[in-house]
Amino acid sequence: MDGAGKKTAAAIHQEVTREVNQLLGRVFAQRRKDGRTDLEAVESALRTALHQAGAAALTQLLQFEAPAADQRQWPCRCGHHARYQEIRSKPLLTIVGRVRLSRPYYLCSQCHVGQFPVDVELDVENTEFSPGVRRMHALVGQQAPFEHGRAQMQLLAGLEVTTKSVERIAEAIGGDIVQREQAEIDKALQLDLPAIAGEPIPVVYVQMDGTGVPVVKKETLGRQGKSDGQSAHTREVKSDTPRRAGGLVSWAASKAVGSVV
Ligand SMILES: [Zn+2]
Repeated sequence: MDGAGKKTAAAIHQEVTREVNQLLGRVFAQRRKDGRTDLEAVESALRTALHQAGAAALTQLLQFEAPAADQRQWPCRCGHHARYQEIRSKPLLTIVGRVRLSRPYYLCSQCHVGQFPVDVELDVENTEFSPGVRRMHALVGQQAPFEHGRAQMQLLAGLEVTTKSVERIAEAIGGDIVQREQAEIDKALQLDLPAIAGEPIPVVYVQMDGTGVPVVKKETLGRQGKSDGQSAHTREVKSDTPRRAGGLVSWAASKAVGSVV
């Protein structure tokens, strides 16, 4: 451990000791007063104290320093370089509670877009929730109304969050999933189909047939049925098969088309 590491470690030890001592003082005082131990109160207070110590420790670990003089440029998406401006800080909710993250801020003079490379590294870009807290949000947000999610976060993790944040994060994760699924669908639509090869076909006949398929009521609204005065119960699916004189068109050249009329 270097000098700075030792200093950080000492500050963290001090914070943990302070929190635990305070709590033990309260536990012993309560025991003297009531002559018994309230386990639920103690376990919950111990978690709170250790969370607070953890949050203090994490805040210490999340103080990033200004870059060295020869490392004050960062590549920008526009192709130019962003220059280091200053240290900026933001609050973060982590699984041990609220902490503060301080990290270098870079700004591109060409396109005026600012960036925090540390946020990308820590996966907290454009969010005030740590990856661990976002995972919890996603879990509680997917199974019950968002208000239940807020209550579950409080009871199970000892974290105060708003119903709105459970909703926002669950929706952001849902949006992410939809985007990934859409990318898969787009890939499927761009399949490389086999090139059509073989003799040119001068005349293609299309053989057409149709059959009635039962459908839900709203699909037949306003359509006259086979018997007078009654609405239709089915709609017709047309199926077309391309043929040439003497047989079916080869698989690659044929395309069965189904349409509902
Ligand atoms: Zn730029």
